[in-house]
Amino acid sequence: MPDQEVFMRVPPATPKRTVYTDAMQIFHRAADVIGLAPRVRLELEEPDYEHIFYITAKLKDRLVPLSPEQAREFGDLPATKLRNPDGLEPLADGNYILNGRALLGSDVSIRGGYLRLQDGGVYKLVPGESRRFKAYRVQHNQARGPYKGGIRYHHEVSLDLFKALAAEMTWKTAIVEIPFGGAKGGIQIDPRQYGKEEIEAITLRFMYKLKRLIGPDVDIPAPDVGTNPEIMGLLFRQYSDGENERHTLRGVVTGKDIRIGGSEGRVKATGRGVAFCIEDYYAEKGTSVHGKTFMVQGFGNVGSNVAEILHSMGARLLAVNDAEGTIYNGDGIDVPALISYVQDPKNLKRSVAGFPGAQRISKKDLFEIQADMLIPAALGGEITAEIAERLRVRLIAEGANGPTTPEADKVITRRGIDLIPDIIANAGGVTVSYYEWIQNKRMEGWSEAEVNRKLEFGMKRNWRIIRDIARNLPRQTEMHDSRRFCIGKEVDMRCAAMILALKRIEAHYQLEGFSQ
Ligand code: NAD
Repeated sequence: MPDQEVFMRVPPATPKRTVYTDAMQIFHRAADVIGLAPRVRLELEEPDYEHIFYITAKLKDRLVPLSPEQAREFGDLPATKLRNPDGLEPLADGNYILNGRALLGSDVSIRGGYLRLQDGGVYKLVPGESRRFKAYRVQHNQARGPYKGGIRYHHEVSLDLFKALAAEMTWKTAIVEIPFGGAKGGIQIDPRQYGKEEIEAITLRFMYKLKRLIGPDVDIPAPDVGTNPEIMGLLFRQYSDGENERHTLRGVVTGKDIRIGGSEGRVKATGRGVAFCIEDYYAEKGTSVHGKTFMVQGFGNVGSNVAEILHSMGARLLAVNDAEGTIYNGDGIDVPALISYVQDPKNLKRSVAGFPGAQRISKKDLFEIQADMLIPAALGGEITAEIAERLRVRLIAEGANGPTTPEADKVITRRGIDLIPDIIANAGGVTVSYYEWIQNKRMEGWSEAEVNRKLEFGMKRNWRIIRDIARNLPRQTEMHDSRRFCIGKEVDMRCAAMILALKRIEAHYQLEGFSQ
């Protein structure tokens, strides 16, 4: 008799959950709802290209502080008198970079590699080493135009994160009707641990390697977390250096300084776009931003600008959380004073922590404050289901990319908290980047009033289409036409925004076809 066969049941493979699969949940949900063509779905569910590369840089010498206990054994070490104190560059982590010949000609007392500065602290002299950094550029989709997306310098980045952010750019550019696709990239680095000249060298090397992958009509980077107009200027220089028709290449990066081809209104554009959405949300309810209360998470480019604009409209900022701390003032925080405090060169961490016009609270407390609005404008995944259960706000306007987890999304819908989803709320930045790109191509310079007027129209018009899709209210008004996008039933706001993006992208595949 044959041996009894033994069956072993292999459990079905559960797909690994990542920041990318989380971010794509809404794509799949909206694709199911509208019955997105299967081939278009395949085109969109993974990026066109995923580039990973490495860059190296030679770092400068550093002075690294000793703890008071470690410093005790150097009690008799005389202080070094620096002839050129400007050669010392303070970093947010407490280290100093020794720029140029900072010690040259100084009265240096050094023992075993340790020296005392005039501030009394003892420091270890660490010679500059060469270091390697991991860099990324993900190009998600270009059905509607050249790839477009920011450059992030942050220590917590990954291929999955950049895939998610690149896909978000594809949806966003479609939602605000600008002729671009989606991309994202950057470097795995904590920029606060490096000096100005080191960041410059790393940025130039980054573009040296990136150059073959991008171009003004191919892929157009812009600023994101940890980068700024100065870095965009460096990227432009490295891309165009020595080229014959250098002026025609200015549109290879956006978010540049206005003096070198940046657009008026670009720096504030993302914050302004969030504010336009909020303004329209209240206008529809027959009320206004005036007198409303709000909280902001993240007080960098997006957070500080949206706070400033809402404050100027008469809203009251109650609390702010950033990477270093959380502050609260029930009477309203003086926003211009807070911005001056954060931007003071002595505030090395660029943080709201320690602001004298507010009291310190915990991050947990911030999410329990009663207010009209919460504006997450920091990093992704910050609003979890647990936080969403505790929120006491009526509206969340997502300044950050992907701040709300899929579980939190369900809680927000169940609790009836209104939402302005990220892919419309923070699309103001890329919209004005598009205006910058046009101005560069045409060699024009538009006024800030003109930029803001166009931005307002672009944001409000598409935000209204999204609301009509959510409520299944097909109609044509002077400002917008939602008839082609409504699907015959109501959907939640995040799904409505994604439906608008997918329908616009799908049209390109349907009408242009595939190149086999
Ligand atoms: P930024 O670097 O200027 O500021 C980031 C802010 O977030 C800082 O205040 C920082 O302290 C804070 N932060 C960082 N980690 C935090 C944490 N763990 N908890 C709390 N706060 C934290 O960046 P930004 O340009 O203002 O971008 C903020 C968000 O907006 C990002 O999600 C970015 O992708 C998105 N965004 C930016 C733009 C733009 O034009 N800058 C456009 C669209 C979307």
